[in-house]
Amino acid sequence: TLEGADDEPGHDEIAMLADSFNRIAGEWIQGEKLRNQLVSDAAHELRTPIAILRGHLETMWKGAAEIKRENLLSLLDETKRMTRLIQELQQISLAESGQLSLECSWVRFAPLIREVADIFGVEAEEKRIDLTYEDDTPQGFEVYCDAARIKQALINLIGNAIRYTPEQGAIWIRQSVAREGIVQVEVADTGPGIPAEKLPYIFHRFYRVDDSRTRTAGGTGLGLAIAKQFVETHGGTLVASSAEGKGTVFVMRLPVFPEA
Ligand code: ADP
Repeated sequence: TLEGADDEPGHDEIAMLADSFNRIAGEWIQGEKLRNQLVSDAAHELRTPIAILRGHLETMWKGAAEIKRENLLSLLDETKRMTRLIQELQQISLAESGQLSLECSWVRFAPLIREVADIFGVEAEEKRIDLTYEDDTPQGFEVYCDAARIKQALINLIGNAIRYTPEQGAIWIRQSVAREGIVQVEVADTGPGIPAEKLPYIFHRFYRVDDSRTRTAGGTGLGLAIAKQFVETHGGTLVASSAEGKGTVFVMRLPVFPEA
């Protein structure tokens, strides 16, 4: 310890300083690595849709093929996917930088979940998927959270359930109090499920269980990574369990009022 202002710092102090310097430098390098990785992943992900667009446009330009409306539609789909990808990249880079600041207020949870379920109402009807919502929390139950971020996390979970569940399947959304001070939302589906050996990776960004299937489903591979980041920033947890061929259950838990 330093006893007087004139004292030379001892070995301990120097070692401590060196330690904390190394830790900060290490964290910075780690952060830098994550950012570099994100940029190269993003470039990789954008290459495919841009190559598809370019190929089609070049063929049309050369006049080699007559321009069909359905060709234009598939080009439009690719641009939509790129737009989503870019929006999601912004969200993930914000969340991973640790600079996501939450704008929390007391939010009534039931209307929030209903609103998200309604977004997918038409899609569910088209696929004749039975979408049910069950609320086991007391009337008017409120959670102190950033409504926009939690809504986004729910959109990603319920959107996946709709996308991956085949026609005439079923989806349940259930809200309950897991234990005192913890709210729980389960999103369960009768989709294809996720093989056990792949389950640990589904929250990694750009990870896809079945690349061809998810690409045609318009997936970006970022939805779950974003949902998990948003939930964890609230001090909550997001986990999945699945039985291949039977379905998948995502369980989101949030503190009703996060500790400061
Ligand atoms: P994507 O945009 O590809 O859906 P996500 O991060 O949302 O990306 O999901 C990662 C992967 O996890 C998906 O590609 C899919 O293979 C798998 N997955 C996610 N949700 C489900 C689900 N409800 N049922 C089956 N597989 C799912």
